[in-house]
Amino acid sequence: MAKVVCVLYEDPASGYPPPQARAGIPTIERYPDGQSTPTPSSIDFTPGELLGSVSGALGLRSFLEAAGHELVVTSDKDGADSVFERELADADVVISQPFWPAYLTADRISRAPQLKLAITAGIGSDHVDLQAAIDADITVAEVTYCNSISVAEHIVMMVLALVRNYIPSYQVVVDGGWNIADCVSRGYDLEGMQVGTVGAGRIGTAAMKRLKPFDVGLHYFDRHPLDPDVAADLEVTRHDTVESLVEACDVVTINCPLHPETERLFDARLLGRMRRGAYLINTARGKICDEDAVAEACASGQLAGYAGDVWFPQPAPADHPWRSMPHHGMTPHVSGTTLSAQARYAAGVREILECWLSDTPIRDEYLIVAGGSLAGAGAHSYSAGNVTAGSEDAARFRAD
Ligand code: NAD
Repeated sequence: MAKVVCVLYEDPASGYPPPQARAGIPTIERYPDGQSTPTPSSIDFTPGELLGSVSGALGLRSFLEAAGHELVVTSDKDGADSVFERELADADVVISQPFWPAYLTADRISRAPQLKLAITAGIGSDHVDLQAAIDADITVAEVTYCNSISVAEHIVMMVLALVRNYIPSYQVVVDGGWNIADCVSRGYDLEGMQVGTVGAGRIGTAAMKRLKPFDVGLHYFDRHPLDPDVAADLEVTRHDTVESLVEACDVVTINCPLHPETERLFDARLLGRMRRGAYLINTARGKICDEDAVAEACASGQLAGYAGDVWFPQPAPADHPWRSMPHHGMTPHVSGTTLSAQARYAAGVREILECWLSDTPIRDEYLIVAGGSLAGAGAHSYSAGNVTAGSEDAARFRAD
């Protein structure tokens, strides 16, 4: 029998379950490239429920416990005396969401001798030291595509929010004011701007498709070329270097994974190559940007705005500079954990567990590490190595 340790974010402060704003969610059977949404044998939840917090347990409890497995669910993930650290010692499987990542560092892996499978309930497995997972022959899998469209929608929202100065204008209303000049003195149309994505995979491509009707020019930088038909439909320009892309764009959106090649890619040097007054939207991973360099660029006007939902570490400490820098549109890490996305990744986690427990292959597209090397989506989109250094700082959120 297996021991499964599942780290999820805390329940709503107002209690669980929260009232539901809508009766349900649309049923989606295929992603835009034809890949099927998750196909577990069955599910024990109603799509649209809150599944990603502790009491939701990703809808896994009855499935695992009926089969005699042990399921531990906790939000207590940071620090040496955390429940996660304690339960890891004899865990076979760890499940974690990128929104509230249980950092699986080499040190933690070395103290989890039974660990065989790390599942990311979502997309983006950089919270796992992938090099250590490769060395320890731990399989790392994520639910590829489960929330790519959720994030693409969020990117469109954030691009428009920054360019049109939405958030400060909303605040004027909340504050009882009506000063139109204050609202519009930083407000522009998106039409005619040049928009580029670093990473043109599932999210980057979906974001470009959604932005094209705004009559913008599109650009991308990726290690892989786009399908020629997709590139022709989007009328998109491919750049050979990230510098070339940022120099050509008014709006840049980051959509590559965090791995050793992309760690702190957007540092003071690259930000300095951007057009003055450009907007930067990062829903990929916080550590792809240098946090102080971004804050300085927002303060100096080099960036007209920065928005995103990803930070490093997570949760971000109270004194993280992105909480207080000017012209930002930051939220906690929410874009990929809408109720719609949760239904897909909860089903995907169950699919992965069913495969692993019955010793049948996990879909290749879900694999990041398998058999001691990068595999599947991991081989396509990552490079081996470790980007978890500094993650222990997440414990400061509670200590502060
Ligand atoms: P994907 O694998 O479909 O696309 C990633 C693309 O990045 C690939 O085309 C890959 O070739 C490219 N890439 C990798 N390294 C690169 C490099 N050094 N330079 C340029 N391009 C590079 O994945 P996706 O579904 O589009 O997701 C991308 C990332 O977005 C995830 O890895 C994750 O970090 C992040 N994400 C965030 C959220 C959220 O809630 N904010 C949700 C899902 C995914």
